Amino acid sequence: MLRLPPFRYLGPRRLDEAAEMLAQEGEQAMLVAGGTDLYPNMKRRQFTPPVLIGLRAIPALKGLSGSPEQGICVGAGVTLSTLAKHPLILQHYAALATAAGSVSTPQLRNVGTLGGNLLLDTRCNYYNQTGFWRHSIGYCMKKDGDVCLVAPGSSRCWAISSADTAPVLVSLGAQVRLVSIRGERIVPVRELFRDDGMDPYTKARDEILTEILLPPADGWHSVYLKLRRRGSFDFPILGVAVALRFADDRTVADARITLGAVASHPVEATEAAAQLVGQSLNPELIDAVAVAAAKRSKPLDNADLTINYRKQVTPVFVRRALSQFTKL
Ligand SMILES: Cc1cc2nc3c(=O)[nH]c(=O)nc-3n(C[C@H](O)[C@H](O)[C@H](O)COP(=O)(O)OP(=O)(O)OC[C@H]3O[C@@H](n4cnc5c(N)ncnc54)[C@H](O)[C@@H]3O)c2cc1C
Ligand code: SF4
Repeated sequence: MLRLPPFRYLGPRRLDEAAEMLAQEGEQAMLVAGGTDLYPNMKRRQFTPPVLIGLRAIPALKGLSGSPEQGICVGAGVTLSTLAKHPLILQHYAALATAAGSVSTPQLRNVGTLGGNLLLDTRCNYYNQTGFWRHSIGYCMKKDGDVCLVAPGSSRCWAISSADTAPVLVSLGAQVRLVSIRGERIVPVRELFRDDGMDPYTKARDEILTEILLPPADGWHSVYLKLRRRGSFDFPILGVAVALRFADDRTVADARITLGAVASHPVEATEAAAQLVGQSLNPELIDAVAVAAAKRSKPLDNADLTINYRKQVTPVFVRRALSQFTKL
């Protein structure tokens, strides 16, 4: 049985109190929301923070307000279950409801939050293992070691961005609000990530993610497809998030395609998506765009299933995702 390391738990009831605690406790503190990513990681000794600041008792993080016309503000503490079932999300931001509903299991979705999902630690076959397992292979540079076991000649870590909602929020053009005692800022979700498996977020250590801001639905339609070994629960080994907006004559007015679980950050296939603009969807165009989008995917041997399979299946999933828009 894996046990949690000892830690002191602080339970603020207001956002300003949480920001104050985070600033005061400094490097030794981490935030915890649902704990469905952090607690298992602590049990495996990937993180051993002496202090945890719990966000669950802060009502300001749990709201969902706004309208599809003006945009919707989702509190970072809204659970994945709530999001997956919410009528406005289901109808106007369908890919987000699909992604939230595809995370792990019902029990974990009932406590796992959207904020925690966006800030999920990057994953790798050589890292998401017990401390004992990692000790037996001499650790790797993401924690306690100094080499990358996937790419030993590499000076960087290639752990994978594996959050289901991340590519969707990038494709939807969402933003996040980050709050600290220094003030607050709003950042596009795509700028929350950096291409670094060890330090994958641009959020400062003392910032709390408080809200996810969905833009007006404004005619956008979205689809999310996820590849995983077990349909009942598993992290994605490929996520394809597509958002399209159509003109009155059914040509594509705007398009965004984002791939998840193929790199340390969600990867935008911008050039492939641009090929759709001004065109009507047809099988030849969909095939060409799927092949172009898949070129952005360069998986390494650090996730489930083989690299070759994951490479071959990427255009198939993009094609399937785009084909769903022909039925609208
Ligand atoms: C068996 C299993 C299967 C899983 N399958 C999937 C899956 O298929 N897809 C998937 O995407 N995830 C999966 N997960 C991971 C996890 O359950 C989800 O990502 C969940 O959404 C995490 O949310 P949380 O609230 O529990 O995050 P936590 O564990 O509380 O936090 C995660 C990280 O985010 C930080 N954080 C949380 N909230 C904030 C905030 N408001 N501001 C700043 N930092 C914050 C924490 O400090 C921590 O670093 C799985 C986990 C398990 C154990
Ligand atoms: S990609 Fe390399 S450094 Fe990063 S977690 Fe995996 S083995 Fe470790």
